[in-house]
Amino acid sequence: MHPHGAIGPLVAALDIGGTKIAGALVDTEGRPVARSLRPTPAGRDGETVMQAVAEVVAELRAAPQWPAAVAVGIGSAGPVDALHGTVSPVNVPGWRDFPLVPRVGEAAGGLPVVLTGDGVAMTAAEHWQGAARGYDNALCMVVSTGVGGGLVLGGALLPGPTGNAGHIGHISVDLDGDPCPCGSRGCVERIASGPNIARRAVESGWLPPAGTEPTAAAVAESARAGDPLAMASFDRAAQALAAGIAATATLVEINVAVIGGGVAGAGPVLFDPLRDHLTRYATLSFAAGVDVVPAKLGTDAGLVGAAAAAAQVLGLAGFVAG
Ligand SMILES: [Zn+2]
Repeated sequence: MHPHGAIGPLVAALDIGGTKIAGALVDTEGRPVARSLRPTPAGRDGETVMQAVAEVVAELRAAPQWPAAVAVGIGSAGPVDALHGTVSPVNVPGWRDFPLVPRVGEAAGGLPVVLTGDGVAMTAAEHWQGAARGYDNALCMVVSTGVGGGLVLGGALLPGPTGNAGHIGHISVDLDGDPCPCGSRGCVERIASGPNIARRAVESGWLPPAGTEPTAAAVAESARAGDPLAMASFDRAAQALAAGIAATATLVEINVAVIGGGVAGAGPVLFDPLRDHLTRYATLSFAAGVDVVPAKLGTDAGLVGAAAAAAQVLGLAGFVAG
C-alpha cells in the first residue's frame, strides 16, 4: 500500500469507444490518479477523432503525476490489430486501419504503447481487481450493444497475436441462424446482444411497459414481472451465451465466466436460465462446473484493464493479479 498516494510507476490508460474517449493515469493498485475525458467525434474524419485522443493525452501529460508514467495502455473498440498497431472500430468509420499506436506514442512523448481490444482490457481488469480475481482460467464477457470478451489462461491474460482473442460474440452457436453483421451466421451476439433481445421480444408480440422504449432493459423489467414473452427472449439469449461458454470451457478449460455490460444488469432473469442451460451444454467432466458470475468493476474497467494489459505485455511489476 502507498498511504501517501501514488508512488512508483503509473500507466497512462486510454479507453476508446464509439461515444467517449477516457484517459487516466493508473497506479499499481488500479486506482486512477488523474483523468481526462472527451466525447468521441465518431462521425467525423479520422484526424478529427485522433485530435480528441491527443487532447486526452495532453491533459494527462499536464498532470503533476505524469513523470511517473512508464507506458501507455489502450483498450479500443474493435476490431483492433495489435500486430500492426492499427484499429478499425465498427462505430468509428473514419478509422480504418488507423495507425493509433504510433500516433499515441508520438502524443505521449515516446512512451511504449500497448494496444488491446476492449473485451481483452475488461478481462484484464476483472482478473486483476474484479470477479475473476483468484481464478487462473477465466472467460470474461461484455454483453451490451454487442458481445465481446477475453481470456485468462494459466494465470495470464491471453490477448492473442492481434489483441482480439476470446471474442465470444462471434462464435456461431446456430449453424443456419440469422446472418450476423460480421458476415457469419447465428453468432452469440446475433442472439444475445441487448438490441437482439429487444428485437426478438417485439417480434414475438411483447409490448414494452407504457411510456418506455423497447430496449433490453424494458424486456428485463417485463421478464422480472413474469411476462412469458419477455422471459422467453432472455431465455434464448441465455441459451446462446451458455453454448458459447460451454464451447470455451471445452476448448480451453475455464473455471469461471464473468459477465458484464448493460444486459448483465438484468440479473437473475439472465443468470438463472444461463446457469441452467450451461448444465446441458457443458457436460464433460472437465468442462462442467464453471462458475457464472456478474462482473464487479463498473465504468472504470476499460481504463484499469488497459493499464493491466499493458503492464502484463511489458512485464511491469505491480500491475498483476495478486
Ligand atoms: Zn458475428
